[in-house]
Amino acid sequence: MTTQQAPTFPEALKDGYRAFREGRLPDEAKRYVKLAKGQSPEVLLIGCCDSRVSPEVIFDASPGELFVVRNVANIVPPCEQGGEYHGTSAAIEFAVEGLQVKHIVVMGHATCGGIKAFASPPAPLSKGDFIGKWVSLVAPAAERVTKDRDAPDYLTHLEYAMVAQSLDNLLTFPFIRKRVESGELQLHGAHFGIERGELYVRDSETGEFKPAVDADGKALRPSALINCNDA
Ligand SMILES: [Zn+2]
Repeated sequence: MTTQQAPTFPEALKDGYRAFREGRLPDEAKRYVKLAKGQSPEVLLIGCCDSRVSPEVIFDASPGELFVVRNVANIVPPCEQGGEYHGTSAAIEFAVEGLQVKHIVVMGHATCGGIKAFASPPAPLSKGDFIGKWVSLVAPAAERVTKDRDAPDYLTHLEYAMVAQSLDNLLTFPFIRKRVESGELQLHGAHFGIERGELYVRDSETGEFKPAVDADGKALRPSALINCNDA
């Protein structure tokens, strides 16, 4: 005997779709017609699943501009040839070898639950403990953190370190290393602060995260990264 009810598609999503259909869709009709033939984004963005850090919102990006992969704690696993299912690696492979993106941005964020789950593991949420196994990939990042574990900003430093670790792990994929070395592909690290919406970009020389704003205090437009001339 089951008490399961027929699923009801969320009203909030229907309302959102109605707004899209009446607003953005007709406004960007030309773009959608063009995109129906194919995509050619220049940026692969690897971010966290967290509902508060939507890359398209943060970068004010239009359809077709960002190829996005999101997983718990924006982790790029090291390149592995084993017979497991590698969802993130498959998406990276397609973006780089199929779409030939010019930039990969790994974006961490403040108060990341995945990073916290590594630092202070909670009880597994299910028998499989999928989160525990996945965030064990944060371990090499934790080794990079020199901050005391009790410091109030330890988790922020671990979030930064995970971005750096994911960037290093990207280079374990031979097809990425080759393109980076030939100058066809650039790797970038970033971190988003939720409360005030600050975006920090990682300095590849020093590893330091610096505000992504120009001298006037005006936020950098995504056009600095994305070629938007196909609107
Ligand atoms: Zn997160």
